[in-house]
Amino acid sequence: MNNKHERLILYISLATILSTSVLFISLPIFDCAKVKKIVPELNLSQLCHADVSENQWEYIVIHHSATEKGNAARFDDYHRKKRKWEHGLAYHFVIGNGSFSGDGEIEVSERWKKQIHGAHTANMNCNRVAIGICLVGDFENGGTPTNNQFESLVALVQYLSSRYNISLSDVLLHKQVFQKGTACPGKNFPFAEFKTRLLRIASKTNNSHIAF
Ligand SMILES: [Zn+2]
Repeated sequence: MNNKHERLILYISLATILSTSVLFISLPIFDCAKVKKIVPELNLSQLCHADVSENQWEYIVIHHSATEKGNAARFDDYHRKKRKWEHGLAYHFVIGNGSFSGDGEIEVSERWKKQIHGAHTANMNCNRVAIGICLVGDFENGGTPTNNQFESLVALVQYLSSRYNISLSDVLLHKQVFQKGTACPGKNFPFAEFKTRLLRIASKTNNSHIAF
């Protein structure tokens, strides 16, 4: 074997070692990226399916439950039995914090499936055209949304605003709806961060209807 052949074998060996190393180095990084994904893939189209023809929704109103724990069934029970509301649960969606439903789990109410107006603000004109989303937690008295809740909320609001052509300026906090004073969804709800996230998604997907 001459020198030329030996050099060629050496180069091939070095290239093999190098590519194998890159593979082994990159595998853990790829795995980390997978582990970091905290909210499971949401099939929002399936989740938001309605059993009847859809209402013309114009606003999205964000709430907190003002309780540390809860889920759709518990709030439904309270609204039905204590508040005597015919359709029960006031909201269309409830996003859990891991107490009585999954952390970041989106529960869909009968109100949504039947496309019935909400009962989530004291302003009935608003309730007729506003989708109500409630995050389990008390964000006025020390609590904050969990990362999973926040990610689910961003995904859900982005999906609904796109589906019903709702501009970002019509995504409101409960306390922004004209009515008697309420702190809902609490001073710790990160509204600026939430809107920034939605704007970033809108600019990537060219959702021209989303604007302040
Ligand atoms: Zn509220």
